[in-house]
Amino acid sequence: MNDSPDLTAFRDALVAERVRLLASLGEPIEGPGQMTYGSQAAAATHVFEQQRDLALRDHERAQLVLVGDALARLADGTFGTCLSCGRQIAPARLEAIPWVALCIDCARMAGK
Ligand SMILES: [Zn+2]
Repeated sequence: MNDSPDLTAFRDALVAERVRLLASLGEPIEGPGQMTYGSQAAAATHVFEQQRDLALRDHERAQLVLVGDALARLADGTFGTCLSCGRQIAPARLEAIPWVALCIDCARMAGK
């Protein structure tokens, strides 16, 4: 027996997250100029919603990179190792966030 984490479960979780992010990012966002506004207030609301969508996308793109990196680490056998200090990341932390790249101590030091 060994006590290494169940990599298959992590791989499944990462692939599922990747699919979800790709599907989400595949949805087009309406650009400016494609709509006419009945009022200044409607225009302002639309701009606000658009900026919120774009911010969400930035987050999802960053997330997609993290998930891709984690899948690469699964492939090369370094999954679950802290990128900063090289120690094993706590299994509970990996189960909560499979794409996490830093152990709790390094994440705290990085302010994340
Ligand atoms: Zn660390």
